[in-house]
Amino acid sequence: MKIIPYGKQNITPEDILAVTESLTSEYLTQGPRVNEFEQKFASYVGAKYAVAVANGTAALHLAALALEVNKSSKIITTPITFAASANCIRYCGGEVVFSDVDPETILLDFKKVKHLLESSPKGTYQGIIPVDFAGYPVNLEPFKNLADEHGLWIIEDACHAPGGFFMNSHGQKQMCGNGVYADLSIFSFHPVKHIACGEGGMVTTNNKGLYEKLLLLRTHGITRDSHLMKENHGGWYYEMIDLGYNYRLTDMQCALGISQLRRANEGLSKRWEIASKYDKAFKNAGVRSLKPPASGKHAYHLYIVLVSNRKAVYDELRKNSIYAQIHYAPVHTMPYYQSLGNKKGDFPQAENYYEQCLSLPMYPTLTEEEQDYVIKSILEIAK
Ligand SMILES: *Cc1c(COP(=O)(O)O)cnc(C)c1O
Repeated sequence: MKIIPYGKQNITPEDILAVTESLTSEYLTQGPRVNEFEQKFASYVGAKYAVAVANGTAALHLAALALEVNKSSKIITTPITFAASANCIRYCGGEVVFSDVDPETILLDFKKVKHLLESSPKGTYQGIIPVDFAGYPVNLEPFKNLADEHGLWIIEDACHAPGGFFMNSHGQKQMCGNGVYADLSIFSFHPVKHIACGEGGMVTTNNKGLYEKLLLLRTHGITRDSHLMKENHGGWYYEMIDLGYNYRLTDMQCALGISQLRRANEGLSKRWEIASKYDKAFKNAGVRSLKPPASGKHAYHLYIVLVSNRKAVYDELRKNSIYAQIHYAPVHTMPYYQSLGNKKGDFPQAENYYEQCLSLPMYPTLTEEEQDYVIKSILEIAK
């Protein structure tokens, strides 16, 4: 029987044509499609600037570097995320301080972060990395107010939420990654995410200074801008003025990204249709699932049910060719983070959630029959 994974890319003939065209153009690496993808993506999420990079992890690393994370930095994030959200701080030598999730939303619990900041001397923490987990947009407005009060920056990990938005206290729509409440936001174009480039990532921002810094760090810290150089020996000359990396995204990958972005809203609507079908079926049968926010728009990267017999359900689904997944084992319990002083029991909400969570198949090309089959299988075994 055909395997039904939890997430899957959708490649159309138009995508293939776009990539093929890029292959026969002048550019394979930094060509015109990089700029085009950046501009179109920035406009999709409503940010001023976007910088395309090699993957979402590189986006996080550059974001942390641009915000000058170093070995005296302490940065707050959620234990329920992909490890990269925390790892970017370690790449820069900083300390990751986890804070527990809200049991309703499974997002970083605002009250706990506030308490953490208010119970520590000023200047203890430098930044917060909230994650739009599963596609549920973090309401960044209170986080931004809190961050301003304590002199902190915000990196929004929006990998799960392109196209998602929350409503602010003035009733205005705030797209994930629009740069209004976060200093920098980051996205991934890994094939299980909404938009696939193979590998790929993006940083969005409204801050021109940070934007320019990201451009520099993406390419080895090398500049040809005469205003930034100490000397100028001629047309060939460049200077390396900071320690950067090669975190570029290729023109070929951007060709795919641009083509995929055209269908992003269509894909999001499909995810909503599937979510509402799951919602209805599970509600009637008493299977618990994570709820979308009352206002705004959940981007449904993941559709998560909570079951008390999780391992049995996971194993049984697998026998039925349904490859559900677990997102995530809490990052603070990973042996690496335990070796840095974290331990099981530190964040009971995150750990309790982990015992029960299961991400069901959720992607735009999941057919009606497949949805029915997933529902039927869950209803038979879930407790
Ligand atoms: C996928 C993901 C990343 C990392 O993105 P890559 O492109 O795989 O490097 C970071 N954070 C979250 C929440 C993710 O889901």
